[in-house]
Amino acid sequence: MLKGQRFQAPVAGFFFRKIFLLMNRIFIVCLTLALTAPQFAYSQNCPFPIINTLEAYKNFVLKNKDNELVEIKREIPSVVLDITYATSKNIAEKPVYTIAAAFARKQVVASLKKIQQELNKQGLGLKIFDGYRPYAVTCLFYAALRDTTFVAPPWRGSKHNRGCALDLTVIDLKTGKELDMPSAYDEATERSYQSYDKCSPLQSANRKLLRDVMTANGFQIYPYEWWHFDFVGWEKYEIMDIDFEVLVNSKFKVQN
Ligand SMILES: [Zn+2]
Repeated sequence: MLKGQRFQAPVAGFFFRKIFLLMNRIFIVCLTLALTAPQFAYSQNCPFPIINTLEAYKNFVLKNKDNELVEIKREIPSVVLDITYATSKNIAEKPVYTIAAAFARKQVVASLKKIQQELNKQGLGLKIFDGYRPYAVTCLFYAALRDTTFVAPPWRGSKHNRGCALDLTVIDLKTGKELDMPSAYDEATERSYQSYDKCSPLQSANRKLLRDVMTANGFQIYPYEWWHFDFVGWEKYEIMDIDFEVLVNSKFKVQN
């Protein structure tokens, strides 16, 4: 009996340790699934195709070079960037980009170049907050805000995901300061609406100045955000879900 007892204790201990490790593993798997499930479900239920591999993106660009996502600062070096999504000052309250850069499709950047030239003649310039935004980031913002006015719902996707939307404002080249606008960038209130009229005459004039120069050069307004503009013809471009690092590190560039 003594011999048997001495033998069984370590076997029982081994058995319970195995069970514990198994339970632990199941818990970790469940937790991972719970955290990734919303985004997984969104991408599964998307009513549109998503370009989410570098290979697929390259093929699209090789078919039509207008599909290229151009780094805006490379094409227009004088543009000022303030990529708040690479900081914690955004809806998600954490950086969602690891690189503070802005991209847009080739034709979008060509229009932006004209706008910058027009503004420069008046002693003004562009400050860009955001351009192309990977689809996963749109899902993240929607999960954080649960609103469809200030963020695009995953089942519709955003024109930012197509590389055809820009969030921007105007700066005074002498001071480097932003022109006074009716609200802060990304402020989720009525003050951000194009129609908001309880602002000062100067704020209203500045908002109009931005709106006029953008709409005269191929963009359309978004009624609920004075800073957001969609490139006319955005429907021709696919929704993409490729991170900035992948775009930058691939060094993929089409020869003109
Ligand atoms: Zn926007």
